[in-house]
Amino acid sequence: MENVTMSLEELLKQKSLTDETLLQAAERAESYRILPDVSVIKIGGQSFIDRGRAAVYPLIDEIVAARKDHKMMIGTGAGTRARHLYSIASGLNLPAGFLSQLGSSVAGQNASMLAKLLAKHGISYVEDAGMSSVPLFLEQVNAVVFSGMPPYGLWMRPAKDSLIPPYRTDAGCFLVAEQYGCKAMIYVKDENGLYTANPKTDKNATFIPKISVDEMKEKGLHDSILEFPVLDLIKKARNVREVQIVNGLIPGNLTRALAGEHVGTIITAD
Ligand code: ADP
Ligand code: MG
Repeated sequence: MENVTMSLEELLKQKSLTDETLLQAAERAESYRILPDVSVIKIGGQSFIDRGRAAVYPLIDEIVAARKDHKMMIGTGAGTRARHLYSIASGLNLPAGFLSQLGSSVAGQNASMLAKLLAKHGISYVEDAGMSSVPLFLEQVNAVVFSGMPPYGLWMRPAKDSLIPPYRTDAGCFLVAEQYGCKAMIYVKDENGLYTANPKTDKNATFIPKISVDEMKEKGLHDSILEFPVLDLIKKARNVREVQIVNGLIPGNLTRALAGEHVGTIITAD
């Protein structure tokens, strides 16, 4: 019982880092959001960037206009080229950590391409280590591009029954939003949001405007429009307790979502 009155400092000297009392004491500090005015947007790889110019150019125009009113960190997906790599490398039985490195290179290529289109507006691509300079970019031009793949690389925690890295760009972007305490996490893809089934293969699929993580799992939709580990990340989040998926092929959707409007599917922690 003496533990209750012990300071965190004392507990840290004596207890394991997973000790209940120590964990509770570590929770007492007030939460602090590092970039509370910034929204993270993820531009889909397979669903968006792979569509090329027809999809990308209008979105670039929208981003350039929107950044006058909104601060954003723009993360990229990987997409078809990464899937091709995953298929070859998993056929060779290479471990998830190597596949993660391969996927990273593709998300980086996409980030590099988007940044070239945004360059004349002063918007830059910050590579892995450059994340520390993000605040300066945001303060100067309200936007920055980053690769959505989390840099676990070789240290990717493997899935039980697959070589495909479970934490990919949906997860990477979410974690950036959560750790920085950002205002919103918006996924830009090619569908209006979540449906009762994949709308590309099931024409009876109906749209779901809002749903919780638990409801999504109950309905068997956990492995659909977002990488499924993201759902657990949302549930455990302290800052970003909901995400929105919007159809970026419809002009204006991203801008409306940045303004806090409900234009796609909102997935909530509870
Ligand atoms: P990203 O390009 O961001 O990686 P994905 O292609 O992985 O996006 O995921 C988006 C795709 O998920 C959509 O294009 C859609 O075809 C598919 N999808 C599968 N199930 C569903 C569902 N229930 N509702 C909406 N989309 C779904
Ligand atoms: Mg995906």
